[in-house]
Amino acid sequence: MTTILYLNANIYTMDAIQPRAQAMAIDSSTGRILSIGTNDEVHRTAGQHSQLFDLHGKTVLPGLIDAHIHLLSTAYRSHHIDAITCTSEDEVATLVRERASQTPSGRWIQGGQWDKNLWPGQHFPSKASLDTAAPNHPVVLWSKDGHLLWVNSLALQRANITATTREPANGAILRDGSGEPTGILQEQAATNLVYNVIDPPDPAMTRTLVQRLLPRLQQSGITTIADIEDLDALQLFQQLHDEGQLGIRVHMILPRHRLPQLRESWKPQHVVAPLVGARSWVREGDDMIRIGGIKIFADGTLGSQTAAMLEGFEGNPHNLGILAISEQEMNETVSQAADMGLNIAIHAIGDRPAHVALNSVEKAQQYLASTSDTARDLSHLRYRLEHVQLITPADLARMQRLGVIASVQPFHAVADRDIAERYWGPRHRRAYAYRTMQNIGIPLALGSDAPVETFDPLRILHAATTRRDDTTQRPPWLPDQALPISEALWGYTMGAAYAASEEHLKGSLTVGKLGDAIVLRENIFDAPQEKMTENAVQATILGGKIVYGEV
Ligand SMILES: [Zn+2]
Repeated sequence: MTTILYLNANIYTMDAIQPRAQAMAIDSSTGRILSIGTNDEVHRTAGQHSQLFDLHGKTVLPGLIDAHIHLLSTAYRSHHIDAITCTSEDEVATLVRERASQTPSGRWIQGGQWDKNLWPGQHFPSKASLDTAAPNHPVVLWSKDGHLLWVNSLALQRANITATTREPANGAILRDGSGEPTGILQEQAATNLVYNVIDPPDPAMTRTLVQRLLPRLQQSGITTIADIEDLDALQLFQQLHDEGQLGIRVHMILPRHRLPQLRESWKPQHVVAPLVGARSWVREGDDMIRIGGIKIFADGTLGSQTAAMLEGFEGNPHNLGILAISEQEMNETVSQAADMGLNIAIHAIGDRPAHVALNSVEKAQQYLASTSDTARDLSHLRYRLEHVQLITPADLARMQRLGVIASVQPFHAVADRDIAERYWGPRHRRAYAYRTMQNIGIPLALGSDAPVETFDPLRILHAATTRRDDTTQRPPWLPDQALPISEALWGYTMGAAYAASEEHLKGSLTVGKLGDAIVLRENIFDAPQEKMTENAVQATILGGKIVYGEV
């Protein structure tokens, strides 16, 4: 056994029992922490074969866990048209025209990140501009929030969407006065009509793009991601892991339509088996990849005005947004998943899906409590609301009572400030209320939601603690909701580990847990908040081994 020793460090363990330490020892074969304490204490536990690193007083934190990311989508972003900086529909069309000139006719042109809220008039774009730019290529462009698909006529044709196509339930095909589709599809039920006919991405290309992205995550201090994607992502992660090339731990959250398959793969022999089987299966995998739960889309987004609302949007009282799942289906899905021991992550932007989701959680908890199966240990089960951008005070109290986790992405708060004020009116004052959540005892898990926003944890921590976007000079937005740095870091470590039922393995530097840590150039607790984004990661340690940087 080789022991790896990190000495002379300024360690913030995030473990309440022993919050600070000077050194730690990690077993290189298991990747687990053997001891943590003073230099002397740790030295004593070291075996004959040890490798020593002197950290010269540098600050060490547990490895950061991004509780909500879409990695493949983030990787594709570098390969597709990126309209993030476009300030008009015409500008996007110009990018499409350029791409069309380099793409064989008939091939799909893909891309996204367009945001009509940054354009004059904020109107929806239409197929006409794309038809002019690329008459011979089917074009699909995702909105920045991923809930709208802007397509051209050829794409509509490939998907067989016409004036007579029936409106999908829980989605919308925008149409002109004569019923012709305008080229905007809202929410999965509608966007899938086109998405499902796109040529699948070339696996070799996907792999290359992901392999380019993984080191960037390591450099930013991330040691685990909760990836919210489908089986294609899981398969790629497994492949990379088999080849020893993953370099980052993955907690997989699959879409809810995989629930029947997940259930099927357990082949329950009798009534108790699915419960026991499910639990062990969820725990299965290894320290690098584990499947932990399912994701339910309950509504759209604020930027697309498809978030589902208890009361209409400001100035548009009849638009209540889109509840992307019926209440009955939500109840059934939550109860089924909980019964299988799977964690449940529910996307909730508006205040209505949060309300509906909490009803389902309450029902599932009552159901589980009523079944008298004492062999069943559900202590690891986690319910989480993703985003929780607007929620009523009563439902906030209910979240706390039901033990529901708020999985939040603080960069959304600073990026969405204008649209929150515009579309929610006075309600915006209780939006993105992370400090309130923390104060009343709701566990917070922090993440990025990349590719929607940056995955850089230091920029996100800066946004969480200052309520500012570090790239602008704008004053803080709702600064009362800024999190203290210790609480924000808790959300990026222990909170995110807890949200994945992995708090026994990750989230703090504690004996027996995985030796995942980061070394910072400066002490993040002392550095002025404005400098936090420059407070770069010097090294990233995974299972005791340095996977990025040097010390
Ligand atoms: Zn997301």
